[in-house]
Amino acid sequence: MINTRPHSVDEPSPLHTSVNQTRVLGVWAHPDDEAYLSAGLMARTIVGGGQVTVVAITDGEDGFPADDTRPREQRAAQRRRELRAAMEVIGVQDVRFLGVPDGGVANAPREVLVDRIADIIRDVRPDVIVTFGPDGVTGHPDHVANSARATEAWENAGIGDLWYAAKTDEWLDEWRDLHDEFGVWMTEEPTGVRRDEVEEVVDLVGAELDAKRAVLSEHRSQTDGLSRAFGEERYRRWIRQETFRRPNINDRSRDALAGSVAS
Ligand SMILES: [Zn+2]
Repeated sequence: MINTRPHSVDEPSPLHTSVNQTRVLGVWAHPDDEAYLSAGLMARTIVGGGQVTVVAITDGEDGFPADDTRPREQRAAQRRRELRAAMEVIGVQDVRFLGVPDGGVANAPREVLVDRIADIIRDVRPDVIVTFGPDGVTGHPDHVANSARATEAWENAGIGDLWYAAKTDEWLDEWRDLHDEFGVWMTEEPTGVRRDEVEEVVDLVGAELDAKRAVLSEHRSQTDGLSRAFGEERYRRWIRQETFRRPNINDRSRDALAGSVAS
């Protein structure tokens, strides 16, 4: 089981030192969220003999250019195929789709969605649940609602630790010009976390970074354009770090706000 106490980023990752099998459950709004934010964490978990379950709340059927005239179901099927193929790259077999309409996470019946996620938590019994924090990283409304629902489900189920995908202040500083140039964030940039707030850093080089790049390549409808625009070398540096933090006292008010806006 993953060590539950906060540790310094200078200590070896518990994922490297754990001798026991770790169970990780990712709860994400769209296919590809899990890849950008946790492919390295998932790959290390599998290599370490652990188990990974990925939940996609929506099929991401709206993640195509406006001139894509295919029926909704065909676009959804492509995103589901891409997610399954991406997870095969790193040996993740347990992929579950909740089928909430893309763009509709906040409007989906709240208790029903919370109960479905909580049922999966009780079924998987994860050591760690990874999901969005209240900022939703990119600010996408589905991500923000995803965070609130997954957090409520975790509180109800009372199983495992909850880790929010986060970006450090240093990472945001390093990449701010690029993010401004390409308009990466839907609203404002994510809430930066200080290094002492970080629970886990997954820094990928070599074969691990290659694996994450291969995972993202399978989500080609979402990643081909961005990787070409950034340039391959820069894209690889941009994806190499994953960071996670625990919920804190400041998240409470933000979660409450997201809940009231959604209802
Ligand atoms: Zn997303």
